[in-house]
Amino acid sequence: MIYAANFKTNHTRQSTKTYLETLAQKLADKRTEDRVFIFPPATALDSYSGNFTVGAQNAYPTQNGAFTGEIGLEQLEEFGIKTILIGHSERREYLKEDQETVVTKYTYFMAHGFEIIYCIGEPLEVREAGEKAVADYLLSQFEGIDLSYEKLIVAYEPIWAIGTGRSATVEEIASTHAMLRSNMDRPLLYGGSVKPANIKEITAINGVDGVLVGSASLDVESFSEMIFA
Ligand code: PEP
Repeated sequence: MIYAANFKTNHTRQSTKTYLETLAQKLADKRTEDRVFIFPPATALDSYSGNFTVGAQNAYPTQNGAFTGEIGLEQLEEFGIKTILIGHSERREYLKEDQETVVTKYTYFMAHGFEIIYCIGEPLEVREAGEKAVADYLLSQFEGIDLSYEKLIVAYEPIWAIGTGRSATVEEIASTHAMLRSNMDRPLLYGGSVKPANIKEITAINGVDGVLVGSASLDVESFSEMIFA
C-alpha cells in the first residue's frame, strides 16, 4: 500500500522536522512493501532521512528564473527531492491551474525523472449527474498526460470528499477505480476524508493501491495509525 500525507499550508519547518523524526522511528519496522510519502509546505523541504519519501506539493516547471514566489528544479535538487504532487484540486480551483498548465508541469517533471502523484477528481455537481458524467470529467483530466510514465501514481480525489469529513462510499470508490483502471495501468490512490476510522475499509477495496491523506495526516499519531492499521 501507498500512504501519502499532504500537509497543504499546515506545519512549520520546525514542526515538520519533529513530525518526521517521530515518523522515522515509527516506520523503522514498517511492512517493506508499503511506501510512505510526505508532502510538507515548501518552507519545510529539506534532506530528511527515514523510511519515507519527501516530495513537493508544487513547483514551477523551470530550472530557475524570474518567477516570483515560485520554486523550481534548482530549489528541489538542493534537497534531493524527486517527487511532486501535480493537479491537486485546490491548485486547479484556487490557483486557477487549467489542464494546459497542469500538463506543462507534468511533462516537465516527467522529463526530469520525478515520481509524480497526479491528482484528479470531480466536483459534486458532476457526481450528482451520474457515472457517465464522472467518467467523462475524470478522463478529461488525463488529456495531455502520458499515462505510460513508469513513475506515475494517480490519486482519485472527489472534490466533495476533500476536507469535508464525508468520504466517498465503498461502492463509489470501487466503481470509479474500476473505470479508471480500464483506462490506465498505474498505482491508483483514493483521497478524500481518509482517516483512522475508515482506512481499513478503503484499503480493502479492490483497485485501491493506497491513500492520499490531508487533514488526518497532520497528526503523526493519526497518520501512523493508518499506516499500521
Ligand atoms: C487532499 O486534499 O489531498 C485530501 C485528501 O484531504 P482530506 O484528507 O483532508 O480530505
